[in-house]
Amino acid sequence: MKIAILSRNPKLYSTRRLVEAAIERGHEARVIDHVRCFMDMGTENPSIHYKNEEFIPGDFDAVIPRIGSSVTFYGTSVVRQFEMMGTYCVNESVAISRSRDKLRSIQLLSRKGVGIPVTAFANSPDDIEGLIREVGGAPLVIKVLEGTQGIGVVLAETKKAAESVIQAFMGVKSNILIQEFIKEAGGSDIRCFVVGGKVIAAMQRTAPEGEFRSNLHRGGTAKLVKLSPSERACAVKAASIMGLNVCGVDLLRSSRGPLIMEVNSSPGLKGIEESTSKNVAGMIIEFIENNAKPNKTRTRGK
Ligand code: ADP
Ligand code: GLU
Repeated sequence: MKIAILSRNPKLYSTRRLVEAAIERGHEARVIDHVRCFMDMGTENPSIHYKNEEFIPGDFDAVIPRIGSSVTFYGTSVVRQFEMMGTYCVNESVAISRSRDKLRSIQLLSRKGVGIPVTAFANSPDDIEGLIREVGGAPLVIKVLEGTQGIGVVLAETKKAAESVIQAFMGVKSNILIQEFIKEAGGSDIRCFVVGGKVIAAMQRTAPEGEFRSNLHRGGTAKLVKLSPSERACAVKAASIMGLNVCGVDLLRSSRGPLIMEVNSSPGLKGIEESTSKNVAGMIIEFIENNAKPNKTRTRGK
Protein backbone atom coordinates (compact mmCIF):
# COMPACT_ATOMS: atom_id res chain seq x y z
CA MET A 1 0.00 0.00 0.00
CA LYS A 2 0.97 3.63 -0.39
CA ILE A 3 0.50 5.41 2.91
CA ALA A 4 0.71 9.17 3.45
CA ILE A 5 1.47 10.47 6.92
CA LEU A 6 0.33 14.05 7.36
CA SER A 7 2.87 15.54 9.73
CA ARG A 8 4.69 18.83 10.01
CA ASN A 9 7.92 17.21 11.11
CA PRO A 10 9.38 13.95 9.76
CA LYS A 11 11.87 13.87 12.65
CA LEU A 12 9.22 13.50 15.39
CA TYR A 13 9.31 10.13 17.15
CA SER A 14 5.67 9.35 16.26
CA THR A 15 6.15 10.24 12.59
CA ARG A 16 9.37 8.25 12.31
CA ARG A 17 7.82 5.20 13.95
CA LEU A 18 4.81 5.22 11.61
CA VAL A 19 7.11 5.40 8.57
CA GLU A 20 9.30 2.62 9.98
CA ALA A 21 6.34 0.37 10.81
CA ALA A 22 4.79 0.89 7.36
CA ILE A 23 8.05 -0.02 5.60
CA GLU A 24 8.61 -3.00 7.91
CA ARG A 25 5.22 -4.34 6.87
CA GLY A 26 6.05 -3.94 3.18
CA HIS A 27 4.36 -0.64 2.34
CA GLU A 28 5.48 2.65 0.88
CA ALA A 29 5.30 5.55 3.32
CA ARG A 30 5.61 9.21 2.68
CA VAL A 31 5.52 12.15 5.09
CA ILE A 32 3.53 15.11 3.79
CA ASP A 33 3.51 18.48 5.51
CA HIS A 34 -0.20 19.34 5.46
CA VAL A 35 0.52 23.04 5.88
CA ARG A 36 2.31 22.97 2.49
CA CYS A 37 -0.67 21.39 0.73
CA PHE A 38 -3.00 23.60 -1.27
CA MET A 39 -6.24 22.95 -3.02
CA ASP A 40 -8.06 24.65 -5.87
CA MET A 41 -11.77 24.35 -5.57
CA GLY A 42 -13.02 25.50 -8.96
CA THR A 43 -12.45 22.20 -10.74
CA GLU A 44 -14.70 19.17 -10.82
CA ASN A 45 -12.03 16.68 -9.84
CA PRO A 46 -10.62 17.28 -6.39
CA SER A 47 -6.84 17.12 -6.11
CA ILE A 48 -4.13 18.38 -3.78
CA HIS A 49 -1.11 20.41 -4.80
CA TYR A 50 2.03 19.82 -2.80
CA LYS A 51 5.20 21.75 -3.57
CA ASN A 52 5.75 20.85 -7.28
CA GLU A 53 3.44 17.85 -7.34
CA GLU A 54 -0.24 17.13 -7.67
CA PHE A 55 -1.92 14.27 -5.80
CA ILE A 56 -4.93 12.74 -7.50
CA PRO A 57 -7.35 9.99 -6.41
CA GLY A 58 -5.52 6.67 -6.21
CA ASP A 59 -2.09 8.15 -5.44
CA PHE A 60 -2.44 6.96 -1.85
CA ASP A 61 -4.31 4.03 -0.35
CA ALA A 62 -4.44 5.52 3.13
CA VAL A 63 -3.73 8.71 5.01
CA ILE A 64 -2.66 8.90 8.66
CA PRO A 65 -3.44 12.42 9.88
CA ARG A 66 -1.13 13.70 12.63
CA ILE A 67 -2.57 17.17 12.86
CA GLY A 68 -1.14 19.32 15.65
CA SER A 69 -3.64 21.31 17.65
CA SER A 70 -2.24 24.65 16.45
CA VAL A 71 -3.15 23.84 12.81
CA THR A 72 -6.42 21.97 13.32
CA PHE A 73 -8.40 24.29 11.06
CA TYR A 74 -6.13 24.02 8.02
CA GLY A 75 -5.03 20.44 8.71
CA THR A 76 -8.58 19.10 8.82
CA SER A 77 -9.36 20.85 5.51
CA VAL A 78 -6.50 18.90 3.91
CA VAL A 79 -7.84 15.64 5.41
CA ARG A 80 -11.29 16.58 4.06
CA GLN A 81 -9.81 17.07 0.59
CA PHE A 82 -8.32 13.56 0.70
CA GLU A 83 -11.76 12.29 1.77
CA MET A 84 -13.35 14.06 -1.20
CA MET A 85 -10.80 12.29 -3.40
CA GLY A 86 -12.03 8.99 -1.96
CA THR A 87 -8.75 8.29 -0.12
CA TYR A 88 -9.14 6.34 3.14
CA CYS A 89 -8.20 8.47 6.17
CA VAL A 90 -7.65 6.53 9.38
CA ASN A 91 -9.24 9.35 11.39
CA GLU A 92 -11.92 11.36 9.60
CA SER A 93 -11.74 15.14 9.40
CA VAL A 94 -15.08 15.55 11.15
CA ALA A 95 -13.97 13.38 14.07
CA ILE A 96 -10.69 15.25 14.44
CA SER A 97 -12.48 18.62 14.56
CA ARG A 98 -15.01 17.24 17.04
CA SER A 99 -12.33 15.96 19.41
CA ARG A 100 -10.41 19.24 19.28
CA ASP A 101 -13.41 21.15 20.61
CA LYS A 102 -13.27 20.40 24.34
CA LEU A 103 -16.76 21.69 25.10
CA ARG A 104 -18.34 19.76 22.25
CA SER A 105 -16.47 16.61 23.32
CA ILE A 106 -17.63 16.94 26.91
CA GLN A 107 -21.21 17.56 25.82
CA LEU A 108 -21.17 14.50 23.57
CA LEU A 109 -19.56 12.21 26.14
CA SER A 110 -21.92 13.26 28.92
CA ARG A 111 -24.97 12.96 26.67
CA LYS A 112 -24.03 9.36 25.90
CA GLY A 113 -23.58 8.51 29.56
CA VAL A 114 -19.79 8.27 29.77
CA GLY A 115 -18.40 9.26 33.19
CA ILE A 116 -16.68 12.65 33.17
CA PRO A 117 -15.66 14.95 36.04
CA VAL A 118 -18.47 17.41 36.93
CA THR A 119 -17.76 20.25 34.51
CA ALA A 120 -19.22 23.71 34.04
CA PHE A 121 -18.61 26.47 31.54
CA ALA A 122 -19.87 30.00 31.13
CA ASN A 123 -18.91 33.05 29.21
CA SER A 124 -19.71 35.88 31.55
CA PRO A 125 -18.05 37.07 34.78
CA ASP A 126 -21.55 37.41 36.33
CA ASP A 127 -21.78 33.65 36.49
CA ILE A 128 -18.63 32.94 38.53
CA GLU A 129 -20.45 32.18 41.81
CA GLY A 130 -22.82 29.82 40.06
CA LEU A 131 -20.00 28.14 38.15
CA ILE A 132 -18.09 27.39 41.33
CA ARG A 133 -21.23 26.10 43.06
CA GLU A 134 -22.02 23.90 40.06
CA VAL A 135 -18.82 21.85 40.49
CA GLY A 136 -19.19 21.57 44.25
CA GLY A 137 -16.93 24.43 45.35
CA ALA A 138 -13.16 24.52 45.88
CA PRO A 139 -10.76 22.84 45.42
CA LEU A 140 -11.46 22.89 41.70
CA VAL A 141 -9.61 22.76 38.39
CA ILE A 142 -9.73 25.58 35.83
CA LYS A 143 -8.78 24.77 32.24
CA VAL A 144 -8.08 27.08 29.33
CA LEU A 145 -9.81 25.48 26.34
CA GLU A 146 -7.00 26.12 23.89
CA GLY A 147 -4.35 24.63 26.20
CA THR A 148 -2.49 21.36 25.61
CA GLN A 149 0.21 19.44 27.45
CA GLY A 150 -1.08 20.66 30.79
CA ILE A 151 -0.40 24.34 30.11
CA GLY A 152 -3.42 26.38 31.16
CA VAL A 153 -4.63 23.83 33.73
CA VAL A 154 -4.81 25.37 37.20
CA LEU A 155 -5.75 23.88 40.57
CA ALA A 156 -7.50 26.46 42.76
CA GLU A 157 -7.48 25.26 46.35
CA THR A 158 -9.83 27.88 47.81
CA LYS A 159 -12.96 29.65 46.62
CA LYS A 160 -11.13 33.00 46.74
CA ALA A 161 -8.29 31.70 44.56
CA ALA A 162 -10.82 30.17 42.16
CA GLU A 163 -12.71 33.45 41.83
CA SER A 164 -9.63 35.51 41.06
CA VAL A 165 -8.18 33.00 38.57
CA ILE A 166 -11.54 32.73 36.76
CA GLN A 167 -11.85 36.53 36.71
CA ALA A 168 -8.31 36.85 35.33
CA PHE A 169 -8.95 34.36 32.51
CA MET A 170 -12.28 35.94 31.64
CA GLY A 171 -10.63 39.37 31.74
CA VAL A 172 -8.24 38.36 28.96
CA LYS A 173 -11.10 36.70 27.05
CA SER A 174 -9.73 33.16 27.45
CA ASN A 175 -12.28 30.40 27.05
CA ILE A 176 -12.25 28.25 30.16
CA LEU A 177 -14.05 25.39 31.83
CA ILE A 178 -14.29 24.58 35.51
CA GLN A 179 -14.07 21.04 36.80
CA GLU A 180 -14.39 19.28 40.12
CA PHE A 181 -10.94 18.26 41.39
CA ILE A 182 -10.56 14.47 41.47
CA LYS A 183 -8.31 14.28 44.51
CA GLU A 184 -8.30 10.51 44.78
CA ALA A 185 -6.61 10.26 41.34
CA GLY A 186 -3.51 11.24 43.33
CA GLY A 187 -1.79 13.12 40.51
CA SER A 188 -2.07 10.18 38.12
CA ASP A 189 -4.05 9.65 34.97
CA ILE A 190 -4.34 6.80 32.51
CA ARG A 191 -3.75 7.03 28.78
CA CYS A 192 -5.59 4.29 26.90
CA PHE A 193 -4.41 3.89 23.33
CA VAL A 194 -7.37 2.80 21.22
CA VAL A 195 -7.03 1.36 17.70
CA GLY A 196 -10.07 0.09 15.83
CA GLY A 197 -12.33 -0.08 18.89
CA LYS A 198 -9.83 -1.93 21.11
CA VAL A 199 -7.49 -0.68 23.82
CA ILE A 200 -4.15 -1.97 22.49
CA ALA A 201 -1.91 -0.38 25.15
CA ALA A 202 -2.31 1.63 28.34
CA MET A 203 0.00 3.56 30.61
CA GLN A 204 -0.35 5.33 33.90
CA ARG A 205 1.20 8.77 34.07
CA THR A 206 2.11 10.18 37.45
CA ALA A 207 2.88 13.79 38.28
CA PRO A 208 6.14 14.72 39.99
CA GLU A 209 6.07 15.60 43.71
CA GLY A 210 4.10 18.79 44.41
CA GLU A 211 2.33 18.77 41.00
CA PHE A 212 -1.17 17.48 40.17
CA ARG A 213 -0.78 17.45 36.38
CA SER A 214 0.59 14.17 35.10
CA ASN A 215 1.49 15.27 31.56
CA LEU A 216 4.85 13.89 30.44
CA HIS A 217 5.65 17.41 29.21
CA ARG A 218 5.19 18.62 32.81
CA GLY A 219 7.73 16.12 34.17
CA GLY A 220 5.30 13.21 34.69
CA THR A 221 6.53 9.62 34.51
CA ALA A 222 4.84 6.75 32.68
CA LYS A 223 4.50 3.08 33.47
CA LEU A 224 2.55 0.10 32.20
CA VAL A 225 -0.85 -0.29 33.83
CA LYS A 226 -3.46 -3.03 33.87
CA LEU A 227 -6.95 -1.75 33.14
CA SER A 228 -10.13 -2.93 34.79
CA PRO A 229 -12.88 -4.15 32.45
CA SER A 230 -14.92 -1.01 33.17
CA GLU A 231 -11.95 1.25 32.32
CA ARG A 232 -11.43 -0.63 29.09
CA ALA A 233 -15.12 -0.38 28.19
CA CYS A 234 -15.20 3.31 29.05
CA ALA A 235 -12.20 4.10 26.80
CA VAL A 236 -13.64 2.12 23.90
CA LYS A 237 -17.01 3.85 24.26
CA ALA A 238 -15.38 7.30 24.33
CA ALA A 239 -13.41 6.53 21.15
CA SER A 240 -16.55 5.33 19.43
CA ILE A 241 -18.58 8.40 20.47
CA MET A 242 -15.86 10.66 19.07
CA GLY A 243 -15.72 8.53 15.89
CA LEU A 244 -11.94 8.06 16.05
CA ASN A 245 -10.27 4.83 14.87
CA VAL A 246 -6.95 5.80 16.43
CA CYS A 247 -6.90 7.89 19.59
CA GLY A 248 -5.59 8.36 23.09
CA VAL A 249 -8.29 8.37 25.75
CA ASP A 250 -7.21 9.99 29.02
CA LEU A 251 -9.06 9.01 32.15
CA LEU A 252 -8.89 9.56 35.90
CA ARG A 253 -9.45 6.82 38.47
CA SER A 254 -12.09 8.22 40.81
CA SER A 255 -14.06 6.76 43.69
CA ARG A 256 -17.09 6.54 41.36
CA GLY A 257 -15.20 4.75 38.58
CA PRO A 258 -13.30 5.91 35.48
CA LEU A 259 -13.87 9.53 34.41
CA ILE A 260 -12.87 10.62 30.92
CA MET A 261 -10.88 13.83 30.64
CA GLU A 262 -9.99 13.99 27.00
CA VAL A 263 -9.83 12.09 23.72
CA ASN A 264 -6.75 12.94 21.65
CA SER A 265 -6.85 12.33 17.89
CA SER A 266 -3.05 12.48 17.44
CA PRO A 267 -1.78 10.65 20.49
CA GLY A 268 2.00 10.57 20.85
CA LEU A 269 3.69 7.17 20.38
CA LYS A 270 6.88 7.67 22.36
CA GLY A 271 5.57 7.43 25.93
CA ILE A 272 3.20 4.57 25.19
CA GLU A 273 5.71 2.47 23.19
CA GLU A 274 8.48 3.00 25.72
CA SER A 275 6.39 2.26 28.80
CA THR A 276 4.55 -0.75 27.39
CA SER A 277 7.24 -2.12 24.99
CA LYS A 278 4.47 -2.58 22.42
CA ASN A 279 4.75 -1.93 18.70
CA VAL A 280 1.87 0.57 18.66
CA ALA A 281 2.90 2.00 15.27
CA GLY A 282 2.79 -1.53 13.81
CA MET A 283 -0.72 -2.06 15.17
CA ILE A 284 -1.92 1.17 13.53
CA ILE A 285 -0.50 0.02 10.18
CA GLU A 286 -2.08 -3.42 10.65
CA PHE A 287 -5.45 -1.76 11.29
CA ILE A 288 -5.04 0.18 8.03
CA GLU A 289 -4.19 -3.02 6.12
CA ASN A 290 -7.47 -4.53 7.29
CA ASN A 291 -9.65 -1.48 6.80
CA ALA A 292 -8.37 0.85 4.08
CA LYS A 293 -10.62 0.86 1.04
CA PRO A 294 -11.30 3.67 -1.41
CA ASN A 295 -14.48 5.65 -0.76
CA LYS A 296 -14.90 4.13 2.69
CA THR A 297 -14.95 7.43 4.55
CA ARG A 298 -18.39 7.81 6.08
CA THR A 299 -18.74 11.55 5.71
CA ARG A 300 -16.56 11.98 2.60
CA GLY A 301 -15.68 15.38 4.00
CA LYS A 302 -19.30 16.48 4.35
P1 ADP B 1 -4.16 18.95 28.70
O1 ADP B 1 -5.16 18.69 27.62
O2 ADP B 1 -3.53 20.28 28.61
O3 ADP B 1 -3.20 17.81 28.90
P2 ADP B 1 -5.74 17.92 30.85
O4 ADP B 1 -7.16 18.27 30.94
O5 ADP B 1 -5.40 16.57 30.30
O6 ADP B 1 -4.98 19.05 30.04
O7 ADP B 1 -5.09 18.07 32.30
C1 ADP B 1 -3.70 17.92 32.56
C2 ADP B 1 -3.46 17.00 33.76
O8 ADP B 1 -4.03 17.57 34.96
C3 ADP B 1 -4.14 15.66 33.63
O9 ADP B 1 -3.31 14.75 32.95
C4 ADP B 1 -4.40 15.25 35.07
O10 ADP B 1 -3.26 14.62 35.63
C5 ADP B 1 -4.62 16.57 35.75
N1 ADP B 1 -6.07 16.87 35.85
C6 ADP B 1 -6.84 17.43 34.89
N2 ADP B 1 -8.12 17.56 35.27
C7 ADP B 1 -8.19 17.09 36.54
C8 ADP B 1 -9.26 16.96 37.51
N3 ADP B 1 -10.49 17.38 37.22
N4 ADP B 1 -8.96 16.41 38.70
C9 ADP B 1 -7.70 15.98 38.98
N5 ADP B 1 -6.66 16.09 38.13
C10 ADP B 1 -6.88 16.63 36.92
N1 GLU C 1 1.25 16.05 20.51
C1 GLU C 1 0.02 15.36 20.44
C2 GLU C 1 -1.02 16.22 19.72
O1 GLU C 1 -0.70 17.17 19.04
C3 GLU C 1 -0.46 14.99 21.82
C4 GLU C 1 0.47 14.05 22.53
C5 GLU C 1 -0.20 13.32 23.71
O2 GLU C 1 -1.06 13.89 24.38
O3 GLU C 1 0.15 12.16 23.91
O4 GLU C 1 -2.19 16.01 19.75
